[in-house]
Amino acid sequence: MRELMAVQENAQERLDHLTDLIAEEAGWDVCSIYLSRKSSSLELCATHGLKSESVHKVRLKPGEGLVGLVARNARPLTTSSASQHPAFSYKPETGEEPFDTFVGVPILRGGRLVGVLTAQAETRREISEEEVETLQTVAMVLAEIVASGDIAEAEEMAELDVRQSKPERFQGGAFANGLAKGVAVLFEPHVGTDHLIADDMEREELRLELALTALRAAVDEMLEGGRGAFGGPTREVLQAYRMFAQDRGWLERLREAVRLGLTAEAAVERVRNENRARLMKSPDPYFRDRLHDLEDLANRLLRHLDEAYTGASIKLPDNAIIVARNLGPAEVLDFDREKLRGIALEEGSASSHAAIVAKALGIPLVGNLEGALDRAEDGDPLIMDGEFGLLHIRPTDDVIAAYDERIQARSARQERYAQLRGPAKTLDGREITVQMNAGLLIEMTRLDELGADGVGLFRTEFQFMVSDTLPRLDEQATVYRSVLEAAGDKPVVFRTLDLGGDKVAPFAPSAVEPNPALGWRAIRMGLDRPGLLRYQLRALIGAAAGRSLKVMFPMIAAPWEMRAARDMLEKELRQAETRGHEMPSDVQIGMMLETPSIAWAMEQVADIVDFVAVGANDLMQYFFAADRDNARVSDRYDVLSPPALGLFQQISQTCRKYEIPVSVCGETASRPLEAAVLVALGFQSLSMSASNIGPVKTMISRMDAGKLGTWIADQMNEPVNSLRTKLIEAGEEAGLPSVAVDNVVKI
Ligand code: PEP
Ligand code: MG
Repeated sequence: MRELMAVQENAQERLDHLTDLIAEEAGWDVCSIYLSRKSSSLELCATHGLKSESVHKVRLKPGEGLVGLVARNARPLTTSSASQHPAFSYKPETGEEPFDTFVGVPILRGGRLVGVLTAQAETRREISEEEVETLQTVAMVLAEIVASGDIAEAEEMAELDVRQSKPERFQGGAFANGLAKGVAVLFEPHVGTDHLIADDMEREELRLELALTALRAAVDEMLEGGRGAFGGPTREVLQAYRMFAQDRGWLERLREAVRLGLTAEAAVERVRNENRARLMKSPDPYFRDRLHDLEDLANRLLRHLDEAYTGASIKLPDNAIIVARNLGPAEVLDFDREKLRGIALEEGSASSHAAIVAKALGIPLVGNLEGALDRAEDGDPLIMDGEFGLLHIRPTDDVIAAYDERIQARSARQERYAQLRGPAKTLDGREITVQMNAGLLIEMTRLDELGADGVGLFRTEFQFMVSDTLPRLDEQATVYRSVLEAAGDKPVVFRTLDLGGDKVAPFAPSAVEPNPALGWRAIRMGLDRPGLLRYQLRALIGAAAGRSLKVMFPMIAAPWEMRAARDMLEKELRQAETRGHEMPSDVQIGMMLETPSIAWAMEQVADIVDFVAVGANDLMQYFFAADRDNARVSDRYDVLSPPALGLFQQISQTCRKYEIPVSVCGETASRPLEAAVLVALGFQSLSMSASNIGPVKTMISRMDAGKLGTWIADQMNEPVNSLRTKLIEAGEEAGLPSVAVDNVVKI
């Protein structure tokens, strides 16, 4: 095998030499290499022992002959009477009649068939399992050789399909906005050609055993711990892992591959490729699911073999787009940020924490791209569209040109937005505070660049979600202090832990609730188990020493909850004072208004809250009783409908009556048209995701708040599901910009 790798000639000579070597070393009369063509037929590309005139002439249709059968089943085939085999197909030009003993093995790469390797002998004899194993191992090395540049790109091989070359388009979900053009980096442990063959077989056997032991221990630990690591597999999957990790067939195949001279990593890859090729052919979704489990297990095993394999350890090209099955939020942060342009995932979801982190970094992320990992190769050109959720692999020139235009237009827009510093003012002179929502320290760097007036919502739970263990008090305080420092003179509103619902922390007990969005979450958890919340308040007080501290509590549904939360904070403040700690210069205590019930109890909280932040995401979810994370219903009702606008108007008026400063955060405030309506309803402060600040500011500076307010008031009794269409049609007449809204503001 070492010699195989070393053969360095031009493409054809190299293949010829390989067949000679294999035949001579293993004692076969014939050895041939058939490779897949783009037309899906198999072409004889090199032979030792058959007539050389037939090379590049003999082509087998899919499934034709013994070779076609090997390809179709992606399994080895042996026979000692080839010519009598029902699948035998006679090709006189090869002169293969005398060679009745036949063995064919698939040449697989990443689970794809790239060809078939055959060996034949004149004497009729049984073929041992070991001979088949040896050829399979050789085929793995061959797969890498034929796909390497010099053969895959040789002119005479132009019609071959050993390396994927067709443009592919995947439609998935847009989970973090943006466009990216770059090259694929498959984030999946992969064994390079220079690490296929073992120098010391015993050492490799030992490495494999150690890694297997570590893998089994890790799976057991995850199972016994009652949950996977954050973003990790479910119990059911873990049980499948355990089953596979103890499966004797799987283990034996791995060990056998090492005994035949592969490195432990190459052995895992070989067995993985074979499983993939077989299971992928199965029409049964159950088996295809098991394939996922097996692949994950193989990846885990490879990580045990190479613990250094992390995002930080791989050297990225300048414009890398990571293609992976799934990533945890911490993994996203591992990559070299200077070079990372985008992330494409086979799984993931919009509210996944990897997506949240990607958004924070300003990197587009597209998910739900099933099968993308099999179709992309390292180094392939990619275009990723985080606006419409598309991934183009090896895009055509037309697609590239279209995207180049969009990328240019987008960066021109970004530049325009960056100019919009200073306060946002409507045409009729209302000054609106535009703040940013954040949750990670890295986002704070964008505060100035985006011209935001401060942080209207800092989601503290993110630090808890990306950490495997409960962040200690000093760790929490360090983060909060850095956030305040990064903000400089600008205000930051910290929201206390909002866990539960869809937000889980790896260390928090994750009880299964029948209806998590209506369950034990946020302040409910904080008041029932006060330890964690007290700790957090202490960390916040410490971090804000000598500065102004703004804290608000999420999901308040009844006045007593607000009173209890305020009491807790005041108690912590008194304690800090008695202990002689340096105190915040002033403290403001806020309430998130995210449940309809509290909107009707404002007079009872008016004297205990210093400010209110309307959490429009949750407020609308509870108002319409429509799960915000359920794609089937989340868009069913419109916030621009008279009842929802009525609620917002009431909140705005009540807060004015009691002189409580109020802002709106959440996605509603992030969308330019909705933001305009909120401003018209009297809200003077909005907080939104970073990338929406430019578009919203643009909208504000071109709208007439008074005119829009009057227009809305006139329409409030109309029997319509939504005012959206009418509003867009009315345009300037309703106080909106004169050009179509979409042309003015685009995110
Ligand atoms: C909201 O509910 O609108 C909000 C801002 O909080 P979150 O999205 O974190 O629940
Ligand atoms: Mg909320």
